This record gives sequence, C-alpha cells and structure tokens, in this order.
Amino acid sequence: MENNDDKLMEKIISLCKRRGFVYPGSEIYGGLAGTWDYGPLGVALKNNIKDAWRKKFVSSRNDMYEVDAAILMNGEVWKASGHVDTFTDPLVECTKCKKRFREDTLKVKGKCDDCGGVTGEARQFNMMFSTKIGAVEDSAATVYLRPETAQGIFVNFKNIVDSFHPKLPFGIAQIGKAFRNEITPRDFIFRVREIEQMEVEYFIREDDADKSFTYWHEEIVSFAEELGLDMASFHEVIVGDGDRAHYSKRTTDFEFDFPFGQKELFGLAYRGSFDLNNHKLEYIDEEAKEKITPHVIEPSMGVDRLVLALMLSAYAEDTQGEEVRSYLKFKPSMAPVVCAVSPLLKNKPELVEKARVVYGMLKSEFGRVMWDDNGNIGKRYRRQDEIGTPWCIVIDFDTLTDDTVTIRDRDTGSQERIAKLELVDYIKERLS
Ligand code: ATP
Repeated sequence: MENNDDKLMEKIISLCKRRGFVYPGSEIYGGLAGTWDYGPLGVALKNNIKDAWRKKFVSSRNDMYEVDAAILMNGEVWKASGHVDTFTDPLVECTKCKKRFREDTLKVKGKCDDCGGVTGEARQFNMMFSTKIGAVEDSAATVYLRPETAQGIFVNFKNIVDSFHPKLPFGIAQIGKAFRNEITPRDFIFRVREIEQMEVEYFIREDDADKSFTYWHEEIVSFAEELGLDMASFHEVIVGDGDRAHYSKRTTDFEFDFPFGQKELFGLAYRGSFDLNNHKLEYIDEEAKEKITPHVIEPSMGVDRLVLALMLSAYAEDTQGEEVRSYLKFKPSMAPVVCAVSPLLKNKPELVEKARVVYGMLKSEFGRVMWDDNGNIGKRYRRQDEIGTPWCIVIDFDTLTDDTVTIRDRDTGSQERIAKLELVDYIKERLS
C-alpha cells in the first residue's frame, strides 16, 4: 500500500509542477526547504477555496467582521499569548549523523529516521521566526512573523467593538500568511514554513460554549462537503487532555487520509477566555449590564493543506483504449479553469474568429476561461482533463452555419451540441 501511496504523491507533485499549480520555492537557486510557490492554476484553486470560505463565513452572515492585520507583530503580543514560552516542538538530534527531527514524528522514538542512530535528549524548540525592526540593535527591536493569524484578530478586538458595536455572539475573521519554523517541513505543501490560514474567532457568552462548538462543528463539515472533499477520507478526532494546544479547553481535529497517513486538515478549538484575558480586553454586555470577558470558539483552517486534500480528492485515472487518462474531477465551482474554448483547426481563420467571439463571451461571464489551440483536439482534452477543466468547447464548421458548438464533459468524455446562445446558462446552471 505504501508504494501506491508514494506513487500517488509523486504523481500529484509532478502534475502540480508540470501544469502550473505549485513549484518548489526559490527553485533556480536550489530551493528553500518548507517553501513552495503557487503558479497560475494553484493561485486560481486557492482563490476558489478562499472565496468559498469568505462567502460562507463572512459575506453571507451579518455577525462577522473581516480584518487584514499586519504579519509583523510587536513582541509583547506573543509574550501575552503564551507563544514565546510555549509555542515549541520537541527537537532531537541524531548522535550519529547529526540530523535533527521533531521527536513526536519519529517512526521509532529514540531512533534516527535516516540512519537508525540513537537520538539524544529532546529540547524545546520555539517555532516562531524572529527578526529585528528598524536600525536599533536591541532586544526591544525584536519582532516576530506571526505564527498564526488568530492573534491579529485578538489585538483588533477592541477596534472592532468600538467601530461597529457588535452584539454577542459575533465573529472576527481573517485570511493571511503565518510562519512557523517547522523542524522537519515535509510532505509537499502539507507541512510548510510559510502557511496561509483562514481563521474565525467567534466571541460568545461562556454559557453558550457547547452550543456554539456544535454549531461550528457542523459548519466545518458542511464546508468540507461544499468544497468537494472526499468525505470518506475525512475524519473527526477529539483531542485528549494532554495533547491540546496551550490555549485550548476543548479541541476537535478534522483529519484527512493523506497518502502519508491520517493527518490534521482543520482544527476547531474552544479557547475559553484565554486570549482576551491575556490581552486584558473586555466587553460591555448591554444585556447583563456588566463588563465580561467573552469566550471564543475558533475554527481554523490551512489553505495549503486544503489545496493538497482537494487535489487528492479530485485525482482520478481511467483507461481509454490503450491510454491511461488522468484527470482532476473538481467540483466545477472549485476548478481553476471553468471551461476551455478551441477552434477545431487553428489554421482556419473563420473558425478562429468565431471561437474568439465565444471565448470573449464566456470570459466576460466567468473569468476563469482558457483559450486553447495547442496541438490536436485529443491533446487539448488530455491537457484540460489533467488540470480539471469541467468543459471543453469546440468551434467547428457546423458552428459557422448553425451557431451551435460542441461541449465535452471532463468526467464522462461525452459530447453534446448546443446553441452558442445557451452556453452561458448551461454552464451557470452546473456551476451552482
Ligand atoms: P500540526 O499538529 O499538524 O503541526 P497544528 O495543530 O500546529 O498542526 P494549528 O496550530 O491548529 O495546527 O493551525 C491551524 C491550521 O493551520 C491547521 O489545521 C493546518 O491546516 C494549518 N497549518 C498549521 N501548521 C501548518 C504547516 N506547517 N503547514 C501547512 N499548514 C499548517
């Protein structure tokens, strides 16, 4: 099984690079461990994920406020939040080959994953990246790249309350980069040092904690379904007392069957009043006519892990004649390209001209539309299948006389002829 799983990861990584989803970071200089660069299709996929998140958790609601806080934050934030003291992983070094590992990810505790040598005593390694701000070289100038987007939300709690006077319960949401100096970045974009997170801090009265936790639990599961994740590979794990993060009173991890094991995809945590207490922030409860410290439920998601889980959920192969065809069966709303438009032959100006009109019409309607006249039609279909384009539209000689086009379905390979004027509605209907 391990072999097939390794092969699947190789196929996905190679497809991502070949077709322009994800490239190794700083590649022409030998790369930089734990960093990846997203190409045009990867950006489109990430944008679809982020748009879906924003629509579900921000714009369709009237109790959510979105912020975009600075990545560089005052060192005091991270002292107050507990990250300076406790945002650590256990680091061990092999006494033989000197390689370093995160102790809790070793295949066998005490034994080097690489050479089998004995690993030494674990020490706590802080995962925050620090840097100096300005020209002054003293400790007051130390700042950190945020290791989570959550604190950017908490430090703006008072601003949001003062500007918008929200009533409890309400949420503050943020999408943005976070940085973690992971000891062993690995498994492609699963464990990286530069992460994009989508987080909500939902502020509630303490008595409502259980109800709200259940509500957000359901919201997370429905979001996973809406994105088109393979739900048979999606699992919920209640995190036990000893294993929770320092701030959490209750956590459920949502895990996914990656080829390298069942691992965390999202987290849902009940942070109590830990953060607002630490930052000495309060809220005037008009109902109770008193100052209270709201409690917090936090659904937290990583965009990079979602990209990988979606690629794995969508990847499929079938055989057509002699040939093995690989395709990505994304939900149309998630596909980086909604449809590709081609003239049957690229050396026939009348076909190209007509195809350009159809392309312009669809592009202005859907944006994510690709012009594709490279190679023969078969090759174009293979290429579009591989990047998960749900529909290929071909303009041929019949189009010139009856204004109909061929539309080919990615998953079944079947083709239909429909009127050019019906194209937009046809696609719109299937997109929603
Ligand atoms: P792990 O146990 O895998 O290190 P975590 O519990 O530290 O993850 P959280 O602090 O809960 O992760 O972060 C919230 C989300 O951010 C995770 O569910 C995950 O999707 C994403 N995330 C965290 N660390 C990384 C990373 N190094 N690379 C990619 N995504 C990450």
